[in-house]
Amino acid sequence: MAQPVVAIHDGDQENAEQTMRVDLAAAFRLADRFGWSQLVWNHITARSPDNPGHFLINPMGVRWDEMTASMLVKVDIDGNVIEGDGLVPKAGFVIHSGIFEARPEINAVVHTHTNDGIAVTALEDGLQPLCMEALFFYDNIGYHDFEGTSMELDERTRLATSLGANKAMILRNHGLLTVGSSVGEAFTLMYWLERACEVQMKVMASNAAWRPVPKAMCEHYAHQEADPRDITEDFRPGVHEWPALVRLLDRDDPSYRD
Ligand SMILES: [Zn+2]
Repeated sequence: MAQPVVAIHDGDQENAEQTMRVDLAAAFRLADRFGWSQLVWNHITARSPDNPGHFLINPMGVRWDEMTASMLVKVDIDGNVIEGDGLVPKAGFVIHSGIFEARPEINAVVHTHTNDGIAVTALEDGLQPLCMEALFFYDNIGYHDFEGTSMELDERTRLATSLGANKAMILRNHGLLTVGSSVGEAFTLMYWLERACEVQMKVMASNAAWRPVPKAMCEHYAHQEADPRDITEDFRPGVHEWPALVRLLDRDDPSYRD
């Protein structure tokens, strides 16, 4: 099995966990800014650089727009709270721990319930190749059938199987999920997936005939652009976007770093 790859931005192991906390808190603030939050529900998580068996998660009752680095709770793969205060809902723990356990190279998981995202999850044929944003996930997205609220531990294995080697997954009749080697990568992939779903639902709601990208062109594009699994480091999702997004937060309200 591959060894866990931990994203360390500062090159300082001592501060690696604090850096991860700040990145994760930034992801909540930005996700809220982009309209991805749902009251106090749903989770964005990051693996602890100090212990690959631990991950950081948002506690119950905190809005995404008020999240700070110190509010995040550290749990282990079995759901025990290791550090921090607050309740961690079992459903969030089940979905995210299943992925961290199965994919040691993955350090962050973003899961959303947006209107257009959920709408696509309810479509029989799922995400359609209608635009470049959608083609990023062409033949590179998993589908997981609805099993009710994810309360059963054995769903973790099925979630991991459904995700496979992909970096995105449609949880049918439920929501969207992306993963990455860093918070920035998982966040940026979710941005593209959300945009693809928004475009698809607009096209379908237009009631006009729609034109998917032909299969041969989808294949061509997938190889031309490379997909999130094979893309070079220079253009890995988040490499250029994430620092720019963090600057946006720092300009407007750096309190997420607290
Ligand atoms: Zn959910």
